[in-house]
Amino acid sequence: MSFVTESPIWRPFTQHALQPGAFKIARAEGAWLEAEDGARFLDAISSWWVITHGHRHPAIMQAIREETERLDQIIFAGFTHEPAEALARRLVALTPPGLDYVFYSDSGSTCVEVAIKMALGFWRNRGEARTRIVALEYGYHGDTIGTMSVGARSPFNAPYEPLLYEVSRIPFPSRGREQETLDALERACRDRPAALLVEPLILGAGGMLIYGADTLAEMKRICARYDVLFIADEVMTGFGRTGTLFACEQAGVVPDIACYAKGLTGGALPLAVTMCKREIFEAHLSPERARAFFHSSSYTANPIACAAALANLDVWATGEPAARVAALCDMQATRIARFADDARFSNVRRLGIVTALDLNVADRGYLATIALDLMRVFNARGLLLRPLGPTIYVFPPYCIEAAELDLVYDAIGEAADCFGRSA
Ligand SMILES: *Cc1c(COP(=O)(O)O)cnc(C)c1O
Repeated sequence: MSFVTESPIWRPFTQHALQPGAFKIARAEGAWLEAEDGARFLDAISSWWVITHGHRHPAIMQAIREETERLDQIIFAGFTHEPAEALARRLVALTPPGLDYVFYSDSGSTCVEVAIKMALGFWRNRGEARTRIVALEYGYHGDTIGTMSVGARSPFNAPYEPLLYEVSRIPFPSRGREQETLDALERACRDRPAALLVEPLILGAGGMLIYGADTLAEMKRICARYDVLFIADEVMTGFGRTGTLFACEQAGVVPDIACYAKGLTGGALPLAVTMCKREIFEAHLSPERARAFFHSSSYTANPIACAAALANLDVWATGEPAARVAALCDMQATRIARFADDARFSNVRRLGIVTALDLNVADRGYLATIALDLMRVFNARGLLLRPLGPTIYVFPPYCIEAAELDLVYDAIGEAADCFGRSA
């Protein structure tokens, strides 16, 4: 049986008393996961937002195989290697102009931690004691103590609250109320914070909440006016999700520091980068060792992961992913449109390849069991969807076909028949 219940594994974000088992996947290809007994799941959330083109993209798998003939992990202080050098050069050329330095790490949380440390180090080395971070309501930046602190407070991080540091929180710029956000940012900037940290254009774990490119651009202008560093957490939005390669492009924004992780290797291997402007790097240049940037992960710039990322960038360079993303945006737009006036849903929305809608249910809380009920219904139909509370979202890999997407939206309609109610 491919449903494992007896296991010593403690799984992430899982209440084992309510979710005692897990499907045991033996094979993945394209948009599909296949269990040991042959049961198949359409991966409509790209395995938690990491897979971009599809599972096991042949060119990326080939690059991984080839790199294993040359290198495994090597120390990255005092030593370097061609996959890391080549990838850094390619990323500098590909990302918004001015992001001239690349710091390697291994996960989204870590690259955000690095960004925060860079910002604080920048100010300290300049002789200004700026340590406060400004962050958006509903934001999510990871699950370490540092990134939980900048993220939204919720039942998920309540036990750790005493350890979380204070941040200046500004309201989410919901449609029609953008000015409140901008005013709050301006007020926060007057206190001379170190940086503003945002997920550009769409807040992922906060519930796939979308806001406009002009608001993002205005936030950047305010930061520039007050000399506050602007950090873009593109961990989720990077590599095509919002319709462009990076979300900041749509706002013409060049962040001072940018974080990329999920999707950097096409989702095949863990790798992350924090990129920054020259002045941030140079603020750490000094004859004094104490001014160096003190951060390292054991697996910094893993050569095999870097080779996977290089292969991923080669795939993007063919132009094919951009064309697929454009086609997928259209397919998503037509499919989500059928729920636009459906009274069982609210906030029917789309940005790039991501669609989301909120099922009208009595309990809208974070811990509402509706998400688990919905998940079970979707799983039983061979679909991997994982609602965020009552928010159902579709976040497919770019290889998904029209007929496969139809399976997803038919299931969403039927789930609403089971659980939804008119607002
Ligand atoms: C997933 C995510 C992270 C954390 O990434 P991990 O690799 O899971 O540590 C950080 N920021 C955003 C916006 C994310 O979506």
